[in-house]
Amino acid sequence: MEAPSQAKSETTNCFASVNPATGEKIGDYGIATTSEVRGAVMIAKFAQEKWAREPISRRVTVIKRFATILAERQDEVAALISAEAGKPAVEALTSEILVSLDAARFCAEHAHEALREEPLAMGNPAMLGKTARVIYEPVGVVGIIAPWNYPFSIPAVDALAALVVGNGVVLKPSELTPACGHKLQTLLIEAGLPAGLFQVIDGFGEVGAALISAGVDKVVFTGSVATGKRVAAACAERLVPCVLELGGKDAMLVLEDADIDVASSAAVWGSMMNAGQTCISVERCLVHRSIYEKFLDACVDKVRKLRVGNGAEPYTDVGPMISQRQLEIVERQVNSAVENGAHAVCGGHRLPELGPNFYAPTVVIGIPADASLWCEETFGPVLAIATFDNEAEAITRANTSEFGLSASVWTRDKSRGEKVARQIQAGAVLVNDLLTSFGVSEAPHGGVKSSGIGRTHGIFGLREMVRPKFVSVEKLTGMKQMWWYSYTPELREQMAGFVDLLFGRKLLTRIKGALRSTGVLFRKRL
Ligand code: NDP
Repeated sequence: MEAPSQAKSETTNCFASVNPATGEKIGDYGIATTSEVRGAVMIAKFAQEKWAREPISRRVTVIKRFATILAERQDEVAALISAEAGKPAVEALTSEILVSLDAARFCAEHAHEALREEPLAMGNPAMLGKTARVIYEPVGVVGIIAPWNYPFSIPAVDALAALVVGNGVVLKPSELTPACGHKLQTLLIEAGLPAGLFQVIDGFGEVGAALISAGVDKVVFTGSVATGKRVAAACAERLVPCVLELGGKDAMLVLEDADIDVASSAAVWGSMMNAGQTCISVERCLVHRSIYEKFLDACVDKVRKLRVGNGAEPYTDVGPMISQRQLEIVERQVNSAVENGAHAVCGGHRLPELGPNFYAPTVVIGIPADASLWCEETFGPVLAIATFDNEAEAITRANTSEFGLSASVWTRDKSRGEKVARQIQAGAVLVNDLLTSFGVSEAPHGGVKSSGIGRTHGIFGLREMVRPKFVSVEKLTGMKQMWWYSYTPELREQMAGFVDLLFGRKLLTRIKGALRSTGVLFRKRL
């Protein structure tokens, strides 16, 4: 079987999406030109102006209808996700369809809250004659640049949040998973989304870059740190605000009192799910030395039982990796660690008998602290385990990383777990659970350090899609403000008195300030 690839065709200016397990073609997609990208943004902008004026309830109705259609068509959509991204159907249902449905539920329930105007009380007595409000407006057209690992739920979560508060969307899916992006568009249109409001543009990195300079009002990017830095630079050039959801190297801390059976099952699922290609997967498992041997044996035993194969098969636990390129990164990291003294207790090799993109679920120990397998994002079915001797060391080692996306702590002592969780530098830390933070629609999702900027999901994610605007009304319509022209020595003296009145430390200073400033009300202004 030939290695599946998503190679750009020089002659036809299009590319094929293929099943990473079988190499079968899923579809052909044309590469958008720069002017097509601009055109897509213009069309979305045109549609957005009307959409933003619609009552919130109308937008909520479309989102709810989308959820109904998605739930009804779950088998068809799950099969597509499974075929294009290689993941087992169970994962397509849980981490893609259920996550998207819950995001739709959240957006429908909270759109009013995100857009609710707030009266603003102003503490400065000079503003006594005014009323003020903060209103929230959609940003305009949001450019969503999405990765391949959650090809449906990531763009869906971001797009639903953008749309429900009145934005238009132009989505650039990964060139590895365009069909999922188009499926999302189809379902939204079936749900009643106005034509043009949600555009999908296909192509490689250059198309993503073109989107940033095509007039979008905000960029929501999910992908690697390297690309994220390029996206941030391009956004800075144009002063386009951006949210960056980037890579991770999540730590799992297994304290000495953890339930070994539960924690080892979690470590195996948390590192192998989606063939380890999850931004919040377990990449560094730190285990207390006193339980290390038992924990390791349990993990190895469970990893050996995993069934690797085509995600379309009902008993497959671990599917293929998305591409040769991704597999080579994992292979290089594991081989280099082993060459430098690490030990692959199981796995550590390809599974060519299954196809070119399959890598055996792997457990590695004894990894040097400076190995790429320990420091860089691996993004493959690898459970990397190390030991620690005390809690402080575990926290320090967890925080010794350029990344800070999420982490987990495992202990029977819940309050201790929470205490440790608070000390870990990450966007989310779970105690006795992992990965579910992405599926909790209420929870803000995002990272610290190199793992990103800004948040998606939850009310914070909705607020990323709106701009706060201050609107103030002076009630005394016939009044000139006391600080307007002309400036005179008397005004200077009165203003100094006003400063004392408001901020003088002593009561006497304030009283004197009040007396010095009163004349300001009666002064002549231009
Ligand atoms: P990439 O950074 O390679 O690509 C992400 C997207 O950016 C793709 O659509 C890609 O297009 C596009 N792109 C590439 N170059 C540019 C450019 N110069 N300007 C604009 N867009 C560009 O990431 P992957 O697709 O490989 O995704 C895996 C990464 O995503 C991992 O690091 C993972 O941790 C991270 N991720 C983070 C998540 C989070 O929530 N923090 C969630 C999921 C994944 P194309 O694919 O066509 O090259």
